[in-house]
Amino acid sequence: MLADLDRSIAILKGEHPDPGAFGYDNHPADAGTNLSDADRIEAALEAMERQRGAVAAALERILGGTYGECVGCGKPVPEGRLDARPEAARCVICQSKHDRAYR
Ligand SMILES: [Zn+2]
Repeated sequence: MLADLDRSIAILKGEHPDPGAFGYDNHPADAGTNLSDADRIEAALEAMERQRGAVAAALERILGGTYGECVGCGKPVPEGRLDARPEAARCVICQSKHDRAYR
């Protein structure tokens, strides 16, 4: 899973090594498609890197023997949730608290 994410990130970065290099700030008139393209890729990259961090953290928890425990409250994360999101670090309640705090 981690390797898959790494590969996807590398591909996205390879195709668009530096989204900022489009210089669309200097050309507001013809920025239309380029801007949304760059935005879309940047958003995808951001999401992937966030997920990569979550997966890496999950692997660390597996190694540390705390995988499956909520990092918020220490209670076991429900298995159904781990099936859907193996990298989930928190139970649903702590995750929603976390999401609210960081948005
Ligand atoms: Zn929790």
